[in-house]
Amino acid sequence: MQTCKFCKSQNLVKHGIRAGVQRYLCKSCNHHFYDNQITFPRMRLNSHAIVTVLNLYYNGLSVRKVSEQLFCIFGENVSKSTIHFWIHKYAKLVKAYTDTLQPKLSGKYHHDETEIKVGGDGRYFWETLDEDTRFIVAHLLTERRTSEEAKKVFRQALEKQRPIAFFTDGSFAYDDAFKTVFYSRFKTNKVEWVRRVGIKARETNNIVERLHGTLKDRYKPMRGLKNDDKAESLLNGYVINYNFCRKHQSIEKTPAEATGLEVKGWKQLIERSQVYKTNQEIQGREIVEARIMV
Ligand SMILES: [Zn+2]
Repeated sequence: MQTCKFCKSQNLVKHGIRAGVQRYLCKSCNHHFYDNQITFPRMRLNSHAIVTVLNLYYNGLSVRKVSEQLFCIFGENVSKSTIHFWIHKYAKLVKAYTDTLQPKLSGKYHHDETEIKVGGDGRYFWETLDEDTRFIVAHLLTERRTSEEAKKVFRQALEKQRPIAFFTDGSFAYDDAFKTVFYSRFKTNKVEWVRRVGIKARETNNIVERLHGTLKDRYKPMRGLKNDDKAESLLNGYVINYNFCRKHQSIEKTPAEATGLEVKGWKQLIERSQVYKTNQEIQGREIVEARIMV
């Protein structure tokens, strides 16, 4: 049974033929699409080629090497700029969907940040990781390393799930941020803050590195960190790839699976994200129509 590429509805009507391919109109979301189930909406190339690009890129291949591999596997010549375009396009589409998911976390969060270079300038990449599931619950790219930035990351972590314990090193940037974000007036629901200072600070660092692998090693092949917007988009894609696409060695599943989320791999992520996006657009349209009716 034919289903809509944008919203998975079966409420379709035939709407002409172009170049020998049946075209459909979806009566649920109003999108047109062609009867070729092997491509993503509005894309010419086979969806397998696109998910292959994302997979190779986020596992450390340069854009040039990705392009070479694409030719070897699919016999397709795809330019570097097209590959860049896909990487950013799908990181954005998928992030909007994965942000809405509610993973079941152990609540033991480990937090750390790393200095990275973006277009030659120093930046900080903040990361908060859930201990048992290895899920990255919060991440942020910032210019400065003050309590304002710490608050943003901590709020992101809190939004996913209130932690039981929060592990950090002894940095002063956390003082104000921790109290503001995790403070509870009540005896229950307290967040235990485990700070490690001096030699113990290095242990915390080691825990994050052991849980996650060194971030620096992983983003090194991502040479596209040229400006802040691009870097943010690539790091979003990197976090998605880490949480949803790679099996973590020690738990033998993806961090997302460990949290009870079943969606895995770029193909499923893109398909579900597209349906999510279309449903959001339909809701938006209905709200506008309801206003016009009033
Ligand atoms: Zn539809």
